[in-house]
Amino acid sequence: MSVTGLCQVCEGREAEYACHRCGAAVCSLHFETENGLCVNCADSEGVDDDDDGNVPGFR
Ligand SMILES: [Zn+2]
Ligand SMILES: [Zn+2]
Repeated sequence: MSVTGLCQVCEGREAEYACHRCGAAVCSLHFETENGLCVNCADSEGVDDDDDGNVPGFR
């Protein structure tokens, strides 16, 4: 899977990954490979884990 364009977090580096939750294209610095989330999503992941049933596009 290829991602083109700039990282949507820093907008300064080439995006290499796509967040599994919000779909944002992010560079390796702003992507958590452990959970497949961008830093924005990874930030809120541990706070409220009950969001799993409300993933956009899942239904
Ligand atoms: Zn970045
Ligand atoms: Zn995200």
